[in-house]
Amino acid sequence: MEPMERAILQEISLDEIGGAPRKPSRSIDAAHAVDRWTPPVLLERAAYLRKMAKLGDGSAAETLREYPQHAAMLLFRGRSGEAEMHEQFADLFVVLAGAATLVTGGTVVGARLVAPGETRGASIEGGEEQPLRQGDVAHVPAGTPHQMLLKGEDTFTSLVLKIQETA
Ligand SMILES: [Zn+2]
Repeated sequence: MEPMERAILQEISLDEIGGAPRKPSRSIDAAHAVDRWTPPVLLERAAYLRKMAKLGDGSAAETLREYPQHAAMLLFRGRSGEAEMHEQFADLFVVLAGAATLVTGGTVVGARLVAPGETRGASIEGGEEQPLRQGDVAHVPAGTPHQMLLKGEDTFTSLVLKIQETA
């Protein structure tokens, strides 16, 4: 038996008994792992974000996981957000709790660049409004101005997939 073959067989057998430490060359397994978050887990983490939001500017977000071309985030809003536009990323919202009005399109008023490809502003002029509530899914393409408006005591909890659309 060639040494290479022997080494491979040894690795396989060690793996099968489960006692072998994972080698760096096997880290590809981690990249292919399945991530799963149940609603109770997400809502518990959102409850923590609610506390953070109260201490800050009324909103808080957590990156659940980053992937090569996209990221899964959890977002809590206790009040309206700024107008946003992402040059490279689409936002896919999956609303977990609460309600908000999503304004899209038009132009960002008082637009300022806060990071490469990331525009923020006070509001949107000439946008379209649509209601979002628990269970709704909304996709905002890259390069599209968007803003979440909240009424009164409303809160908004959403999964947000940040999906890279352009290189
Ligand atoms: Zn956004």
